[in-house]
Amino acid sequence: MVTNENLVHKENIDCPICNSNKTRNLGIRGNREYFGADTTKENHIFTNVVQCMTCDFIYTNPMIRGLESLENDHYNNPDEYSAVEEDNPTKMFRKRLTFLTKYKKTGRVLDVGSGKGEFLFEAVKGNWEAVGIEPSEEFCEFAQKKYKVKMFHGSLEENNEIEKSYFDVVTMNHVLEHVERPQELLNLISCYLAEGGMIFIEVPNADSYFLRIIDIYFKFKKLNWSSRLSPLHPPFHKYGYTKQSIKYLLDKCGYKVVAIKTFIGKDRGYKKKKEGSIIEALLRDLVSTVINLLGNRELLCVIAKPINYSQSR
Ligand SMILES: [Zn+2]
Repeated sequence: MVTNENLVHKENIDCPICNSNKTRNLGIRGNREYFGADTTKENHIFTNVVQCMTCDFIYTNPMIRGLESLENDHYNNPDEYSAVEEDNPTKMFRKRLTFLTKYKKTGRVLDVGSGKGEFLFEAVKGNWEAVGIEPSEEFCEFAQKKYKVKMFHGSLEENNEIEKSYFDVVTMNHVLEHVERPQELLNLISCYLAEGGMIFIEVPNADSYFLRIIDIYFKFKKLNWSSRLSPLHPPFHKYGYTKQSIKYLLDKCGYKVVAIKTFIGKDRGYKKKKEGSIIEALLRDLVSTVINLLGNRELLCVIAKPINYSQSR
């Protein structure tokens, strides 16, 4: 998957959230540490997946640098990328909006990292006044053409058109696991909230029972792999959040958690992954279904509000 090893270099880091260097090792992950990888094609590049003993955050150490072009290739192609595997996220986003409306009935929503615009489309249908921002020009064009939603092209850091202190909700669906400095983004988005406004975040749950079982299965197969992150192949998750670490991060950024809930991975088509043998796939589906009944599911949703609105501007 990594096409040019000269572009990639490794850097030892402390925890990006709390700066601690006390970690436990969860295994390795690279461009070959998943089923279906072509081990003959590319040079082997890998790193350690570690979990911070202080704040629970999951990251890679050393951190791999120089992956931007690979990520951009993946996240610029509307044909390749989909929020869900069957490319029909309507049901999933409706479910999320139902969860959100328990805490905020309706109003103005800003969606950061809108992808192909499906969430905005559902929000508009649900009577939200919705606008998005997305760094991929191709995705913006796709969204505007297919869904006729209002989307700005670029990053929030550089945008000066979107009104501050204006939105009732700022949403980020599967964005924070890709962002190198999540604290900066969380501080920035609070500036866009009107008084009483909230943020809604969804990320993969890097500590779900399902992923823990996958890691045990890897050990059983004598593979020192960790399933918690995928820094070197799609979907390029560089960071892994748990309930504890996202609460820690939000607290550090001046937010109070209003609600936290996990959803099944099947919502995003995780069940449809085609890696590995048929038996392994069937086993994985069975384990996923059973284990999800216990809670601590594969997708982590958090609703939070700033502790002090005036300080956040
Ligand atoms: Zn930490």
